[in-house]
Amino acid sequence: MPYVGAVRSVKVRVPAKINLALHVGAARADGYHQLSTVFHAIDMYDEITATATHDGAINVEVVDVQGQPMPHVPVDRTNLAVRAAAVLRDRLDEPDLGVHLHIRKTIPVAGGMAGGSADAAGALLACNDVWRGALSRDELDALAATLGSDVPFLLHGGNALGAGRGELITPVLSRSTFHWVLGVYAEGMSTPAVYAEFDRLAGGRGVNTPDEPRDVLAALGSGDPDALAVALRNDLAPAALSLRPELLRGIEAAGPAPALAAVISGSGPTTVFLVPDAESAELLALDLRTQAVFDDVLIARGPVPGARVVG
Ligand code: ATP
Repeated sequence: MPYVGAVRSVKVRVPAKINLALHVGAARADGYHQLSTVFHAIDMYDEITATATHDGAINVEVVDVQGQPMPHVPVDRTNLAVRAAAVLRDRLDEPDLGVHLHIRKTIPVAGGMAGGSADAAGALLACNDVWRGALSRDELDALAATLGSDVPFLLHGGNALGAGRGELITPVLSRSTFHWVLGVYAEGMSTPAVYAEFDRLAGGRGVNTPDEPRDVLAALGSGDPDALAVALRNDLAPAALSLRPELLRGIEAAGPAPALAAVISGSGPTTVFLVPDAESAELLALDLRTQAVFDDVLIARGPVPGARVVG
């Protein structure tokens, strides 16, 4: 890790997630929904660079891939990376520790790909290193779960079964790499609004315990993209479509080939297409770009590891 004079900085790379299965149960007493989900980390990364300071201040700067500011991402205490650094500092009981966080975002904001949670996971790992906190991975996991349902998974990456509200993760091995094309929209969707619409559509008849996504787990085990294509399921899709009916155009944009399946990621609106191989991904991406249904079209593969120190 580089030193600039006496200043120490650490760079961490964190992937986005998609949900291969998102089975949603009824709302719990604490307002969260009981989930049975399969997380899958893909090779689209936010980069968080933490530089230690000694003034007790935690601040953040957020830029896009071109290095331009992102005014719609908060830079106050509501930024999830700032919250993560503050929670870690409390845990270390070192109130004088300060940090400057620089976030370079590739993960779409409010896109259903857990970009904010990725930044929280990255900030935890980077600050633990730059502050020489020496918390173990288990201790970081425990802090991660207090920051958000997706944060523990983004520390680990790979594939995982998520229970509870998603924070209780069990790693799942898969036999192969899967190829994806992502249809990205400039305008995001609010996760709480999509869950509220889910409740409205369920009319109080939500199931208490969502069923386990056995088909997705079997498809990961076999590594067969055709089996995964028929197993993909997102219970939030009807709610996202109800709030944003034009998402249907994106889902239908791929046609029958080479896409094996299309599914909305998490609470949307990003739509992901499973394809058989890297060549099909290029072909489909070209076709979707020509149709101009999405604001951006990207190619990704997974699974990949979670948050890692890269510099
Ligand atoms: P999820 O899939 O976990 O529900 P998401 O991917 O749909 O989340 P995020 O990109 O995490 O959505 O952002 C949701 C909101 O969180 C944003 O609208 C923004 O106001 C806020 N936010 C706080 N910190 C960050 C951050 N570091 N990056 C992006 N958004 C952040």
